[in-house]
Amino acid sequence: MIDVLIIGSGPAGCTAAIYAARTGRSVKIIAGPKYGGQLTITSYVENYPGFVDPISGSVLMDQMRRQAERMQVEIITDSIVSVDFSQRRFISLGESGVSYESKILIVATGANAKWLDLPGEKKYRGSGVSACAVCDGFFFRDKDVAVIGGGNVAVEEAIFLTNFAKTVTLVHRRDKLRAERIMQSRLFENPKIEVMWNTKVVDILGDGNKVTNLQLVNTKSNFEIKKPIDGVFVAIGHKPETSLFKSGQLEIDENGYIVVDKTSTHTSVPGVFAAGDVCNPNYHQAVVSAGQGCMAALDADKFLSANR
Ligand code: NDP
Repeated sequence: MIDVLIIGSGPAGCTAAIYAARTGRSVKIIAGPKYGGQLTITSYVENYPGFVDPISGSVLMDQMRRQAERMQVEIITDSIVSVDFSQRRFISLGESGVSYESKILIVATGANAKWLDLPGEKKYRGSGVSACAVCDGFFFRDKDVAVIGGGNVAVEEAIFLTNFAKTVTLVHRRDKLRAERIMQSRLFENPKIEVMWNTKVVDILGDGNKVTNLQLVNTKSNFEIKKPIDGVFVAIGHKPETSLFKSGQLEIDENGYIVVDKTSTHTSVPGVFAAGDVCNPNYHQAVVSAGQGCMAALDADKFLSANR
């Protein structure tokens, strides 16, 4: 029997683990398919307090892992596929077949990349279509690539890709970026990057083996063009990862986020807490997720003390 079981190993899960362990509870993290979550596929983090110089996302997550392990937190490589909420003790079933019984559950499963849902996107995923420049950018040395989206991630990926690619085209459906001003300035200053405004992707075309063209439409003129391209990076946001829960098990809002109490991390099920991108539609920042992880651990400790 574990006191606190944490599902997810990003900043929310790791911070929850560090704080829960320091309240004297037994803590396990079920790390999910990839330890560290989204930060491990981020190039550099410049806004996590405490680091004067930019730090690589995976180094930051490695530090969090080591800090949690120093507090006796066990980090298990497994993915939870379902949770039985019917008893006072929660039973979380892992993909491995192992069941984990816990008094408290902290859900910190984060979010996954959204896709455009185009036929060519599915067909060429892994053969020119990617949602992770840090993972796949290296394969596009001296090639022409496109990034789809206008948020911080799209801009960050476009800039990162200029380390390898010959040209980078940012394709955005509107005439304004959502990304922060400082990121926009870096984008516009980069001579390898061109922005195509008011442009939507109609489909991603290929020769059967790899991507060759983007079929694009200008949303103002309805004019369609085929743009030769070697790689496409989709960066149009993320959706919260709640697929392990059956409908009705936890209150989830219309956009898929776990609903938590306004001033705490309590979910609709007593003893279940949520932290990070899975319950936070507005901020999506590592430091916010870490803060919520701390809150979840403290809420869990209070709950355990009151419900012996
Ligand atoms: P965002 O939601 O910020 O941006 C998504 C972008 O994709 C928008 O520009 C949106 O267009 C576009 N988009 C959405 N759906 C489609 C579609 N179907 N077709 C074409 N374009 C589409 O997501 P991000 O992943 O960029 O960022 C997530 C969060 O993480 C944000 O809060 C961001 O600020 C944060 N972040 C912060 C960083 C930092 O602080 N340095 C770094 C990275 C992320 P439109 O603008 O028209 O809606």
